[in-house]
Amino acid sequence: MIFKPEKCSIPDEAMKPFIDPDELWALLNNIKPDAARVREVIAKALDKNRLTLGETAVLINADAPELIEEIKAGARELKKKVYGNRIVLFAPLYIGNHCINNCKYCGFKASNKSAIRRKLADEEIIREVEALEDNGQKRLILVYGEHPMYNAEYIAHTARLVYGVKKGNGEIRRVNINAAPLDIEGFKIVKAANIGTYQVFQETYHPEAYKLFHLSGPKKDFENRLTSLDRAQEAGVDDVGIGALFGLYDWRFEVLGLVRHTNHLEAVYNVGPHTISFPRIKDASELNLDPKYMVSNEEFVRLVAILRLAVPYTGMILTAREDAEVRTEVMQYGVSQIDGGTKLEIGSYAGNLNETQNLNREQFKVNDPRSLGEVIDELLDKEYLPSFCTACYRLGRTGEHFMEFSVPGFIKRFCTPNAILTLAEYLEDYAKPEIVEKGWRIIEKNMNELGEPQTIEELKKRLEQIKSGKRDLYF
Ligand code: SAM
Ligand code: SF4
Repeated sequence: MIFKPEKCSIPDEAMKPFIDPDELWALLNNIKPDAARVREVIAKALDKNRLTLGETAVLINADAPELIEEIKAGARELKKKVYGNRIVLFAPLYIGNHCINNCKYCGFKASNKSAIRRKLADEEIIREVEALEDNGQKRLILVYGEHPMYNAEYIAHTARLVYGVKKGNGEIRRVNINAAPLDIEGFKIVKAANIGTYQVFQETYHPEAYKLFHLSGPKKDFENRLTSLDRAQEAGVDDVGIGALFGLYDWRFEVLGLVRHTNHLEAVYNVGPHTISFPRIKDASELNLDPKYMVSNEEFVRLVAILRLAVPYTGMILTAREDAEVRTEVMQYGVSQIDGGTKLEIGSYAGNLNETQNLNREQFKVNDPRSLGEVIDELLDKEYLPSFCTACYRLGRTGEHFMEFSVPGFIKRFCTPNAILTLAEYLEDYAKPEIVEKGWRIIEKNMNELGEPQTIEELKKRLEQIKSGKRDLYF
């Protein structure tokens, strides 16, 4: 099942650019909301409705401190009510950093002669995946520079390679991709390799700002990138991830850009984005950017809370670009996925490289270098339920974020039990003793809160099966 909005499809808009900067700026400049209007919009979101651009602008322009607090409280409530306390875990795996583009903000840009370029050989990919499996990872996102070497066939090849690596009880059950946009044929090729989500971040939704940061190479073409996920949809890749790189242009405009992108995909393909990412620019090799649009921590929290309310059904990803403290703070406002044990230096999971970070080997600086175990430890302390669930994707339940959001009881019947089962596997196979104890306590607590005797009974049976060695059980 995929998201069916009330609006019917508008095929005429398919693969056409949809950003009108004047329209977005007019909203930002003209909407001056009073407190009553802000509360009305928050209530609409809490009623599980995606907000319009105008309503999103109401939240963006509500800058009185008490209204900001109400927006944050609304986002916290929406997350709790609608999604519960699960946090899905994943890790990025950088396959290669050759790049023919010159994105000013990125350490991999072609003009950066200090960058140490590498592409993992198949054998090295296998070793990296084994190391990730040994840590307990089940979901990866493969990341590539843009280069003819990393074409659709190669991306599909690496996805298949990763799925094929099994070590002990370890296996990767979902491979997502963050790579250059493809043509429709290319998206069909990667779709056939059974990929999960295909992410393409627009970086900035403002065409003029975009020009300033993308100096040469295919990525220079704003419209080609803007319409890339339409091509993915045309090719049948219906799990797509959108994102903006915060710090390139006014954050308020980018939030509207992300919502505009969302309602474009909904209107044309009847399916909104699977995930929204909101990376902030971090230090990188040879980085020299104007700090004018850099986003402060306060603004960052605000924009995450607004996005949560604006698109209540979509997964939101917060990465280790942010430090542990910021991650802990921001998570409560609607984040559903985080990475753990992240290493960006190519080939570094298998442990055969320098321990110290070297920006010349990385795309940008990782600010949360904690191991997966440490991240899980903190999640458990904060009473989150860490999850490695991949059930919906493997059962063909695409659009699961929409289901968990709209189908009454879906979380209690599927999401929480599956989170519990995957956490139990982690505790059995990979966790340190002190985490094992905490983990089972959280499992017990969440199981009791399900309140559905039949599900609890079945879940208990499966937990016993996991304890006696069975794996990969899901509802
Ligand atoms: N090369 C492909 C592309 O550009 O679409 C794949 C993605 S790139 C390796 C992953 C993302 O990292 C980019 O889309 C960008 O948003 C982000 N990124 C690049 N430089 C960054 C920096 N200095 N700090 C934080 N994120 C950055
Ligand atoms: Fe290349 Fe992507 Fe970095 Fe741009 S963001 S320089 S395309 S790796």
